[in-house]
Amino acid sequence: MPNPAERGYRRIATEEAWTTPEIMQRYQQMLERGDHGDPGFASLWGFFATSQTPRARDLYERVQDLEARRLADMDATGIDMQLLMLTAPGVQMFDPDTACALAASTNDQLAETVRRHPSRFAGLAAVAPQAPQAAAAELERAVTRLGLKGVVINSHVNGEYLDDEKFWDIFAAAEALDVPVYIHPNTPSPQMIEPFLSRCLDAAIYGFAAETGLHVLRLIVAGVFDRFPRLKMVLGHLGEGLPYWLYRVDFMHGGIVRANRSPGVKPLQRAPSEYLRENFHYTTSGMCWEPAITYVQQLMGHDRVMYAMDYPYQFVKEEVDAMDALPLTPAQKHAFFQGNAERVFKL
Ligand code: MN
Repeated sequence: MPNPAERGYRRIATEEAWTTPEIMQRYQQMLERGDHGDPGFASLWGFFATSQTPRARDLYERVQDLEARRLADMDATGIDMQLLMLTAPGVQMFDPDTACALAASTNDQLAETVRRHPSRFAGLAAVAPQAPQAAAAELERAVTRLGLKGVVINSHVNGEYLDDEKFWDIFAAAEALDVPVYIHPNTPSPQMIEPFLSRCLDAAIYGFAAETGLHVLRLIVAGVFDRFPRLKMVLGHLGEGLPYWLYRVDFMHGGIVRANRSPGVKPLQRAPSEYLRENFHYTTSGMCWEPAITYVQQLMGHDRVMYAMDYPYQFVKEEVDAMDALPLTPAQKHAFFQGNAERVFKL
């Protein structure tokens, strides 16, 4: 396997999951009590916490490891650096006080890991969006004092979406700090999950993208990016389907505004697609598929599409080889694996 110098680029994987035994224990306690009010959480973590399939047990162990096993996995697949984020739903399930305390303690642990392995790991902060002012303060602490590189939000927050202005202190902080907000998937909110559940479509197979794509469109039409024009966002999974929808979203949004159809839709300064082109960046997590990658690169620009593996959920060595073989110029490939991540996350 060539080293980064021979290869011409470092492979930086930009949506890599981790968590702590404490958070896993708390998830398990919530599942046992059954008082969390989130059928998607029960479906997904109920499975991972109890299933005895080798894949589930393996994921459960790998996601909690931040040292020897993870580094060996990275070496085995040629990943030079992981950008770590607390796995979904993060601390978003907990009561606000518990969530704030856990966000701070996990950010401290993550920063300590990064300090031990500065060439192998960087991290995004976890915050408790259910306590927006505290979340903004924790983001500032995590960036300015701990050296973390942005923040991850796992889509809906107990059924609420961040287009509600009560959450906008988080966006104001991210814009002021000039760090990205990574909108990572979650299972669909309790209001919309029922038709997904009975066919097991609620998680990575499709529900994540439906939930997260909806969330991002809500942010756009609510005017978040008119209020915060320099806000940088990152979306995984090649944009959760949205790049395929730009034409129709723009066309229909114009009609909805002109007809004044809803108090929830006001005129925007720009077409919805322009925010997706200029405020957002896209990672390939879980989407090792050349036609889709090429499409998003053409549409959004080679400077907006970054490599991600989605470790440990999609830990597939052959996908790294396939990404290496993408039909890109050396400069485009450097941007894809390394340069874009270094610029967007200031690595
Ligand atoms: Mn992920």
